[in-house]
Amino acid sequence: MNLVVAGYVLAAVMVFAAAVRVASSERVRAIVPQFLTLSCLMIIWLMGTAAMLGADTAASASRWSSAAMIGLCLIPPAFWSFYTVLGDFRERHWLLPYIWLPGLALAVLSVGTSFFLGEPLDTPWGYYHDANIGVLLPVMHVFIVGLAAFRGNARVPRRSESLRYRHVALAAIFGAGFLLDLLPWAGVVFPPSGWLFAAVSWYALDRALRKYPRGRSSLAFASRKILTTIQDAVIVIDLEGRIEIANPAAGELLELPSERLVGMRISDVIESPFNVGPASDTLMNGRSFTDRPMIWRRKGAETIEVSVSGSMLRDDEGFPAGMLYVARPISDSRHAEQIEYQAHHDALTGLPNRLALRRRTAQLLAELPRKSRVAAIIALSVEGFSLVNDSKGQATGDRLIQLVAGRLRRALRGGDVVARVGGDEFSFLVDLRDNEDIEIVVEKLHAAFEGPFVVDGNEIYLGSRVGIACWPDHGRTAVNLMQNAETALRRARKSERRTHEVYGTEITQEATERMDLERRLRKAVDNGDFILEYQPVMSLGTSEIVGCEALVRWVDGERTIPPGGFIGIAEETGLIRPLGDWVLAEAGRQASTWAGQGHDLRVAVNLSLTQLTSPTVVDDITRILESCSVDPSLLEIEITESAAMDDVERTIRILEAIRDIGMTLSIDDFGTGYASLAYLHRLPIDKVKIDQSFIRELSSERRESAIVAATIAMAGALGLQVTAEGVENRYQYAFLHMARCDFAQGFVISEALPAASFSKFLRKPPQLRNYIA
Ligand code: C2E
Ligand code: CA
Ligand code: CA
Repeated sequence: MNLVVAGYVLAAVMVFAAAVRVASSERVRAIVPQFLTLSCLMIIWLMGTAAMLGADTAASASRWSSAAMIGLCLIPPAFWSFYTVLGDFRERHWLLPYIWLPGLALAVLSVGTSFFLGEPLDTPWGYYHDANIGVLLPVMHVFIVGLAAFRGNARVPRRSESLRYRHVALAAIFGAGFLLDLLPWAGVVFPPSGWLFAAVSWYALDRALRKYPRGRSSLAFASRKILTTIQDAVIVIDLEGRIEIANPAAGELLELPSERLVGMRISDVIESPFNVGPASDTLMNGRSFTDRPMIWRRKGAETIEVSVSGSMLRDDEGFPAGMLYVARPISDSRHAEQIEYQAHHDALTGLPNRLALRRRTAQLLAELPRKSRVAAIIALSVEGFSLVNDSKGQATGDRLIQLVAGRLRRALRGGDVVARVGGDEFSFLVDLRDNEDIEIVVEKLHAAFEGPFVVDGNEIYLGSRVGIACWPDHGRTAVNLMQNAETALRRARKSERRTHEVYGTEITQEATERMDLERRLRKAVDNGDFILEYQPVMSLGTSEIVGCEALVRWVDGERTIPPGGFIGIAEETGLIRPLGDWVLAEAGRQASTWAGQGHDLRVAVNLSLTQLTSPTVVDDITRILESCSVDPSLLEIEITESAAMDDVERTIRILEAIRDIGMTLSIDDFGTGYASLAYLHRLPIDKVKIDQSFIRELSSERRESAIVAATIAMAGALGLQVTAEGVENRYQYAFLHMARCDFAQGFVISEALPAASFSKFLRKPPQLRNYIA
């Protein structure tokens, strides 16, 4: 036996081995008959050729040559049959009969007619085929393989499916190299080497089929139907963030054909690390989420607001295999509702949260004087909870809190507000006939903790401590009442014996301190013991300093007292008016000095509620601006959200007058009061400043991210500019930049600076651009 014969036999063995392996594999069952047929034909061709090459006489060589030819003629149609079942869905291809017919015709012709095969050639390697019309075969091969390559290249919406097609087509293209066997027919002296291509090609087919097995068709079929019918965008990504599946709705949402999405990285399509990133974190921890509002930004395009559900996909062994996102664009009204709801509710218990409690309290306090009733805020902490949470795990802790929430809710009347304000803290707003009723309510709350809580078969006993603040004795505003109830709670928690504490025991001492403070403040206003510091505001688009906020400080001898220590009292005593006038005049002078030096800066000044409600506010402002001859467009007025909402009609009138003067208007501390964005568009304002509390919470996994992003997007839709306050770190900065916020103010840029240092700062502002990777 010569070497070439050995090559053909070896190739036949390899093809046989591949066929057996594929046939025994459960995962590709559906394509086994076609693959076996194809392999048998290949073996016929290889063994026939081997026998021919090794034949002793021309006559026997001729017989083997015909036998081999039958195999060869049928390989192209068999390959095509195999190719049509490769996809995840069985399809009938109209070309099939037209490909089998010529194959069969050639096979018939090759048996015993010289029309097809001539006398075998006597070559140095043994007898070899001589083809007449057999030269048609290469044409057929090239046609079929060309078709296959073309289809393999056609994108199919499943990555593994398209890869299977492509690898099989590649194997076929390579396998077509066995047409080199035709060279001797054409008179070229070349050793028969088709065996080599056949062997390599089958090796590649075997690999491709095992690596990208065919899906189970019924389920796959149903899912494909669902995917193409459903209106929601469905995206499946693998663990490397590559898109595996994207349905037509996803294509529509992201404005790219879904076939093109497949195989792309999700981060190349959606520019939204703060959404997809944290969402993936959530999923990686094994938790799914539903209907989470998110802002997605299509690469290089505008943002879209979507409601997203996500879950982790696992393989048969339970290992993470990918992530599924189902997203749906949300209409503005539904969106506003959803954001509004989420902003005011605790996700775990569904109870109102701190923000909602403050809003409800403010509403109730506004009505109370007419009803001559008593309102109280009761702050309650669950004693022993953190121990359970630490020892039994968070899931148990979550379940436990839900049980506690249920009991507390049932303990009070429907009209009372039960809010969850912290991990193990609840707060209640109760509306009572008189102070005595409080004892009863507190008793009911403590009684809610009497029996054990049963979680996962464990009996858990918890305790409670409460702090109480009543209106009007212990605070006149919602914020005050809530703070004071918490102060009382802190004292109750420190005490060994008492389970509850009422705010106000130390009130007398406080009152004297206050009177002293008031006296000193009055003197300071007379003496003008104040300075202004200016906190830079940076444009997120250009990274330039475009303005600043003037913040007042009281210089009390050696000490500098921050505004938190005296603005409240100044407001209550009316001292805020002379002080505010001074601030405006001083800020105006500084603004015009900077303008004179060629700086393009707008200086913002805070205006308190007391100033805003003064009947002469507009005249006062006009007079002050004239006295320091400053261009009003250099100044901006900030009023807090709660001040603006105090009396909306009046606010609108005053703001319009201030705007007529030429000043810019912005709403300060936005998000803390109970103004909704919908309210805002009634006000003649230019800007909103998102409160620091929201920015502080911006982290890669908090829902606040969505709230802030949505606020920015919606403010943009209302034609308002947005400043973010209290930007302290690069994550927040990058997030805001990404969410297209207009301006940023905060320690990451600079704290407030005296005027002299401010000019120095302008010469060397911080470079924050590289935060935006
Ligand atoms: P505001 O108007 O919200 O001013 C921003 C406050 O946040 C400033 O505190 C500022 O120093 C601080 N801040 C700025 N960036 C950051 C940051 O990145 N992180 C943190 N944690 N804080 C930051 P400040 O100067 O103590 O002022 C407190 C409040 O006093 C002001 O809050 C404003 O409501 C009031 N205020 C200040 N000056 C005046 C004034 O001239 N008139 C009136 N009516 N109120 C004033
Ligand atoms: Ca402010
Ligand atoms: Ca503010």
